[in-house]
Amino acid sequence: MASAPNSAPAYKIIDHTYDVVVVGAGGSGLRATMGAAESGLRTANISKVFPTRSHTVAAQGGIAASLGNNTPDHWSWHMYDTVKGADWLGDQDAIEYLVREAPQAVYELEHAGVPFSRNEDGTIYQRPFGGHMQNMGEGPPVQRTCAAADRTGHAMLHALYQQSLKYAADFFIEYFAIDLIMKDGKCVGVIALCMDDGSIHRFRSQSVVLATGGYGRCYYTATSAHTCTGDGGGMVLRAGLPLQDMEFVQFHPTGIYGAGVLITEGARGEGGYLTNSEGERFMERYAPSAKDLASRDVVSRSMALEMREGRGVGPEGDHIFLHLDHIDPAVLAERLPGITESGKIFAGVDLTRQPLPVTPTVHYNMGGIPCNYHGEVVTIGADGNPETVVPGLFAVGEAACVSVHGANRLGSNSLIDLVVFGRATGHRLTELIKPGSSQEELPKNSTEMALGRLDHFRNAKGGSPTSEIRAEMQKTMQKHCAVFRDTALLEEGVEMMQKTNKRMEDVHVTDRSLIWNSDLVETLELDNLMAQASVTIASAANRKESRGAHAHEDFPDRDDANWMKHTAVWFEGWGGKGGEVKIDYRPVHEYTLTDDVEYIKPKKRVY
Ligand SMILES: Cc1cc2nc3c(=O)[nH]c(=O)nc-3n(C[C@H](O)[C@H](O)[C@H](O)COP(=O)(O)OP(=O)(O)OC[C@H]3O[C@@H](n4cnc5c(N)ncnc54)[C@H](O)[C@@H]3O)c2cc1C
Repeated sequence: MASAPNSAPAYKIIDHTYDVVVVGAGGSGLRATMGAAESGLRTANISKVFPTRSHTVAAQGGIAASLGNNTPDHWSWHMYDTVKGADWLGDQDAIEYLVREAPQAVYELEHAGVPFSRNEDGTIYQRPFGGHMQNMGEGPPVQRTCAAADRTGHAMLHALYQQSLKYAADFFIEYFAIDLIMKDGKCVGVIALCMDDGSIHRFRSQSVVLATGGYGRCYYTATSAHTCTGDGGGMVLRAGLPLQDMEFVQFHPTGIYGAGVLITEGARGEGGYLTNSEGERFMERYAPSAKDLASRDVVSRSMALEMREGRGVGPEGDHIFLHLDHIDPAVLAERLPGITESGKIFAGVDLTRQPLPVTPTVHYNMGGIPCNYHGEVVTIGADGNPETVVPGLFAVGEAACVSVHGANRLGSNSLIDLVVFGRATGHRLTELIKPGSSQEELPKNSTEMALGRLDHFRNAKGGSPTSEIRAEMQKTMQKHCAVFRDTALLEEGVEMMQKTNKRMEDVHVTDRSLIWNSDLVETLELDNLMAQASVTIASAANRKESRGAHAHEDFPDRDDANWMKHTAVWFEGWGGKGGEVKIDYRPVHEYTLTDDVEYIKPKKRVY
């Protein structure tokens, strides 16, 4: 299954034993680390970047919870909006858990030191965000998104890192996790490379938590950091486990044209609006009630249609204007200082006086590692049970698919997902694991797969540089798996991706050293991206309906009778061999967690 199933070459191996190893130090990984360490479990956190440089730091707009500080609100309204936003592909038991735990999770962050913006009366300031409404979707828009100006993720990450340092968690910073160690279907540890000195670290643990973030970088233009390469998803696929709902990729309506840098939805929350080349506020036509604050998939599609019908802005008609120039500059300075700066730096525009050129940009992966609301990874068992827990393996954050976001995530629902399920994972680990229990022996070949791959790529002498293969993959995804898809585009894309995948056999790595070898690390990342690009485009070609972010022009309607089910997808084409993908399905949970709320039945989704 690995790219190069060689026997393990001789590398210096350093052994560690922990109760819990968390891979990833973004919001979700830090919250899980805190939870495990706080309850006395010996916990290690491995991160390829310094914790406060994880992509969570870039989150701007805020974190959703029904506190009701600025408008009336209730958790059941938040639940309704999330189910509808997800276009009925979300699991309602998990969604109920998310929205009910959300207020407590936000207060916990407040007490941990997050400097939220404040209302006059001292309560946390909340702003409107797309798809969040009052009165079970009826409207008007609700103010539910708690914000620390437009630097909410930054504030959260710093507070969470400080808190996890308070507990006795060990941090392995700038270590690159290569592969899981599996034994008889159970996860028993992980292998990592210390990028600084090239030493290999073998972690034996009772449980591993994957908190490795999204894989936005399989597209050419994305709002996410260059480190968002879906390494956890790659490890899971190599372990022979499936990923879920990978066809659902969110395009954020307002990436800065040309640069891809994000302008938060909070900009429209604070009164910003979109116009076409005729100066028309076109969202009034597509979403008469929510207008510019409709769900992201709806706004992105409307923008794409305007451009396609010749009403795009600019000489090429390939972007749209976002207006904030009517908002009081004092309000912009107080509530949106970060994006005012981004506008200047990346578009050369003074937001207080000029409109900003924007275009839909890849932003978030709804799909990921399937798990339940305790964070336990699940798969379809040999007996066909779709809720089979993979012992010892957990997933949280954007890497995971719980699934609360279904076919389309609402803005500000990711940050809350990180802390609610990071915390739930901590609880589950505490329940399941006795601190310091003796652990079984690792399998004899524990390092074989990881070191086989490492060694193979380190010595790869083909004719295709990593960056060239990566660009080919990214351009195929950008063109063939974008906002609108159709059968011809997708099928051609699948074929092209198989060809690009084949080029992995011919990859060329220039640097053979083990001291900060970024060429090698980028190649390991590309191997992870390639597998996920392959399963994403294959899952998209397979789903013959339109739902949430998956807009299939040959099948323009949602088809609940045939397609209200999660895609489970396996990758079998490693190392350039074939690129084969296997697809099966898991049922959507059509039930709630408690009797306090009724299952929300599918309806037509209009805003
Ligand atoms: C620009 C931007 C703005 C956003 N704004 C908002 C917002 O306002 N509200 C909202 O709700 N959501 C927002 N989102 C989405 C949200 O921020 C992300 O989904 C979320 O922060 C992801 O957090 P995470 O903990 O899953 O992973 P990340 O924060 O991406 O962290 C991943 C971690 O995994 C580690 N890692 C990965 N691979 C390896 C490996 N192989 N070995 C070791 N470590 C590894 C990294 O070092 C890192 O620490 C935004 C996203 C972007 C890109």
